[in-house]
Amino acid sequence: MTDSFDVIVIGGGPAGYPAAIRAGQNKLTVACIDEWKNRDGSTAFGGTCLNAGCIPSKALLESSELYHRALHEFAAHGVTLSGVGFDVAAMQKRKAGIVRGSTQGILQLFKAAGVTPLTGHGKLLAGRKVEFTGHDGAKRTLQAKHVVLASGSEPMPLRGVAFDGERIVDSWGALEFAEVPKRLCVIGAGVIGLELGSVWRRLGAETVVLEALDALLPMADGAVAKEAARHFKKLGLDVRLGAKVTGAEVRPDGVHVGYSDARGAQTLVVDRLVVAIGRRPFTKDLLGEGTGVKLDERGFIQVDDHCRTGAEGIWAVGDCVRGPMLAHKGKEEGVAVADMIAGQYGHVNYRTIPSVIYTAPEIAWVGHTEEQAKAAGRSIKTGSFPFAASGRARAMEAGAGFCKIVADAGSDEILGVHVIGPMAGELIAEAVLAMEYAASSEDLQRTIHAHPTLSEALHEAALAADKRAIDIPNR
Ligand code: FAD
Ligand code: AMP
Repeated sequence: MTDSFDVIVIGGGPAGYPAAIRAGQNKLTVACIDEWKNRDGSTAFGGTCLNAGCIPSKALLESSELYHRALHEFAAHGVTLSGVGFDVAAMQKRKAGIVRGSTQGILQLFKAAGVTPLTGHGKLLAGRKVEFTGHDGAKRTLQAKHVVLASGSEPMPLRGVAFDGERIVDSWGALEFAEVPKRLCVIGAGVIGLELGSVWRRLGAETVVLEALDALLPMADGAVAKEAARHFKKLGLDVRLGAKVTGAEVRPDGVHVGYSDARGAQTLVVDRLVVAIGRRPFTKDLLGEGTGVKLDERGFIQVDDHCRTGAEGIWAVGDCVRGPMLAHKGKEEGVAVADMIAGQYGHVNYRTIPSVIYTAPEIAWVGHTEEQAKAAGRSIKTGSFPFAASGRARAMEAGAGFCKIVADAGSDEILGVHVIGPMAGELIAEAVLAMEYAASSEDLQRTIHAHPTLSEALHEAALAADKRAIDIPNR
């Protein structure tokens, strides 16, 4: 086998594997190195996203949500059920099957695109060489014209809270529970903490989420965060704000979680503790001497707006570089870099990266929140439309939440769109496209939306920004 490639990608997660595929599509010779190992020792491409993040969490969110709806929503449809139950082992088996199918699919995609998959560790050396160490320990030195670093991220540990893989776990561990814990504590009310808390709460765990900040979802639009808090409370998620965890200890009666809040030092005793306080870039043993690649003070690989590290022919994409830690952000960076390497145009519009929280109701947004737009000194107008006024949402028994649009009061350009409600993650795509084309709220207003659909809520929110909504009174 050749040891020389046009492109070597280190990391086969959602940033790395698309970079490799696009490089192959661009007729470049390419290898993708990935060292992921599952708990059973098997290797798999797909990184955190496919193995321990986006995909398994969405599988369990879907299963637990179906159970929850069967209990709480079906009766409203006139569907009567008796003996509704669930089987965690079956849910986990289904999840594992979805993960396996997705990760194995990457190997087929590699084959179709002519990508050489290499399972093991990659280390960048000076002169665009890469030391590849197979899982059997055998080493080879490969040569590339370009190297794309896509080494991803890892869960942030919390001082005083030692993972034991059993009672105190990270997000991956929380996706692997074999049974529903009676008492669960999640540290961190970020996206991952809220999604994991929702899964186990829906299945009956008494769930406390401890969040150090005084505000819930500070990165979301204020109105959305307020609405979300109401629904989390209704679900029975006990979200405690201003609660800073200081330590945890495993004792015979459970995990003792120490935290401080406005009232002073507190202790909570639970059966399982999940640490979900964020993720940090992963670059362990990635960079040899003299590569010229630099890390910033937080450990991210330094890159410019086009993912160039500054070292000739060395690029970096995904969670290991600045920007939101999201799979789709990494994918766009990976593809753009592979196009730029091939001499084509590549660009990522960082202003239109959507965020989605897969809770119920689902939450999604793109662009500025109302608060951010005001803080930036913009003169704005906003329009909101509640799903309670959407015929389709009501027919779905999904009338909670709303669509909100933030637009410039003068130019009418859409600055941000915020959705909390059914299929928010799907609805936001229209807003992303509109913003990609620098659309005005009038452009959305004059776009025909099929009736009855959830997307009409976005249409009406755009109309409401000019007090021209049809299906709600304009205020
Ligand atoms: P990773 O997915 O971390 O992949 C990096 C890969 O590189 C890994 O396989 C790693 O083993 C390998 N690697 C690292 N160093 C080396 C080396 N030196 N040699 C060889 N291989 C190496 N994002 C979303 O957009 N939507 C979601 O719904 C979502 N849900 C999430 C849920 C959870 C529970 C978690 C934990 C994360 C979630 N994320 C979600 C975040 C998402 O998983 C990450 O943003 C994404 O995986 C980052 O992709 P990446 O390719 O940069 O890194
Ligand atoms: P994210 O970065 O979106 O994954 O969210 C992680 C959340 O964890 C943030 O909202 C942090 O404020 C929160 N957090 C970090 N450290 C602690 C801590 N010691 N106790 C409670 N919450 C924390």
